[in-house]
Amino acid sequence: PSTDAPSRPASGESSGTAAATGPVLAVEDIHKRFGEIEVLRGISLEAHTGDVVSILGSSGSGKSTFLRCLNFLETPTAGTIRLHGEEIRTRRDRSGALRPASHGQLVRLRTRVGMVFQQFNLWPHMTVLDNLTEAPRRVRGLGRTDAIRMAEALLEKVGLADRRDYYPAHLSGGQQQRAAIARTLAMDPEVILFDEPTSALDPELVGEVLAVMEALAEEGRTMLIVTHEIGFARDVSTRTLFLHEGRVEEEGAPETVLTHPDSERLRKFLARHL
Ligand code: ADP
Ligand code: MG
Repeated sequence: PSTDAPSRPASGESSGTAAATGPVLAVEDIHKRFGEIEVLRGISLEAHTGDVVSILGSSGSGKSTFLRCLNFLETPTAGTIRLHGEEIRTRRDRSGALRPASHGQLVRLRTRVGMVFQQFNLWPHMTVLDNLTEAPRRVRGLGRTDAIRMAEALLEKVGLADRRDYYPAHLSGGQQQRAAIARTLAMDPEVILFDEPTSALDPELVGEVLAVMEALAEEGRTMLIVTHEIGFARDVSTRTLFLHEGRVEEEGAPETVLTHPDSERLRKFLARHL
């Protein structure tokens, strides 16, 4: 029962297996039910290395639940999730509820699929530096010096090198969210999920966070981004999904879907958000 991160080939290096060449993330027919209500009603998605998938939809359409299912903050009630071909296995507990079958696999999944939340979720009692080094030291087993070196490089990258010893409460919302992104990067994830990362920010702070995300897209990161920033979705994402009541109502290339939508619902959504 090892919780070590699996060794994986460096990018560009192929082991010749299907898992190395197939999608990073393959989601098939995911359903999620809360009691009587089925919130996700069959969502499928494949993301290859470097794909940036924007996910749009009205409030309550299931966007957060979908992202949360992908790293098992919620357990899907049906469907499969594969990371590089490896299915995340589930089992039923005594009450009949589905749970991840293996704690080790769950821990690996959470290191490989990072998540950035609307409310930043930094640890308030830790400095920015400690926020970045804590999990890599504990979960990835990095030594203190290596963890600090890596954290400093990531803070440089998100423009927060001079804030490493600050506590989150002393940062602006935009700085907190950039620190949260750096913290996610510190786990060296293969996929990053963003759940409305700029929705809690004052308008003048949105741009600095989107700029960091755009830089990540340009360096070939695989990302799924729930956002209402239509311009950003159009310019930066490689594919767009529009959810309605737990289903994909429309999907395709952002320049098509976001300028000439087929769906009347998407047309109305865009009119409200542009
Ligand atoms: P979105 O992120 O698109 O606004 P959510 O995924 O948060 O939508 O929610 C989709 C639906 O699922 C909503 O009707 C919400 O009330 C419901 N829901 C979300 N989480 C839970 C939960 N833990 N228990 C019951 N219902 C939930
Ligand atoms: Mg949401």
